Formats: sequence, structure tokens, C-alpha cells
Amino acid sequence: MVTNRTFTMIKPDAVAQGHIGAILEKINAAGFKIVAMKYTQLSQRDAEAFYAVHAARPFFGELVAFMTRGPIVAAVLEKDNAVADFRTLIGATNPAEAAEGTLRKLFATSVGENAVHGSDSDANAAIEAAFHFSGREIF
Ligand code: ATP
Ligand code: MG
Repeated sequence: MVTNRTFTMIKPDAVAQGHIGAILEKINAAGFKIVAMKYTQLSQRDAEAFYAVHAARPFFGELVAFMTRGPIVAAVLEKDNAVADFRTLIGATNPAEAAEGTLRKLFATSVGENAVHGSDSDANAAIEAAFHFSGREIF
């Protein structure tokens, strides 16, 4: 995958609270083009694999339980400087520390239930996009 792309999930909290439309609108308004998208739900195995890097962290069980408890929206986004610009758009992991106007400030309720995921590097964006989408599903 080229480096002007990032991967995102609208997490189960934001989906359950009816924020899909508002979040996608803000993503588009910030200049990101959606090049892949699906409404899906992670299995226990999916969530453990996706967040394997956090397996040793004390919050891992909570994170997997949260990410599997309801549907998500997974998407690949395209924009110049996509990874960094999307991290700026979503804001700090903890919504209490997130800047005004960021997606987590607007839609997240806690550090655990923080509404939106964004890849943290070009390499991880490619890995995460391939985890959720086949080549035929990315445009
Ligand atoms: P994400 O990877 O979802 O975009 P992030 O990169 O801002 O978030 P990470 O450090 O990668 O943050 O943590 C992954 C996810 O694990 C967080 O988004 C959050 O849902 C959860 N998490 C992180 N820290 C904590 C914590 N202290 N307590 C509970 N959950 C946490
Ligand atoms: Mg992360």
C-alpha cells in the first residue's frame, strides 16, 4: 500500500451511539478520501490478533472485550500525509487530553472507549488494511 493511506475503525462505542455519519462527515471534511470501507464485527481472535502488540498490557482483556462487543466500521483513507494528519484529526488516546474539535474530544467517553482508531505508522497502516480488506476491496 502506498504511504498516503491510513487505516481507521469507528469503534463499537461510537457505532452504538449513532455517530457513524457524523464521524464520516468530519473525515471527509478534513480532506480524506475513503478508498475501502466495511461494516463488520471483530471476533475474539480477530481483536487479539489486531491488538497483539498490546497483549502484555494490563488493559488488554478490557480492550478485546470492548472491541468485540458490537459492530465497527473499518476503512482505508487516502490523503497526503495520511497517517500523521489522521492522528491529529482523532486526537489523544485519552479524550480528556484530546484537543478541541478532534474526533475523540467530540465522540469518545474514556481512554478505553475512545471512538476511533488510527494507524500509528505507514507500515502498520498497510498491515492493518490488509488485516481487514483484500486487494479487490481497496480502490
Ligand atoms: P488506537 O490504536 O486505537 O488508534 P492509540 O494509538 O491512541 O489508539 P494505543 O496506545 O495504541 O492508543 O492503545 C490502543 C487502544 O487501547 C486505545 O485506543 C484504547 O482503546 C486502549 N487503551 C490504551 N490505553 C488504555 C488504558 N490505559 N486503559 C484502557 N484502555 C486503554
Ligand atoms: Mg495505536
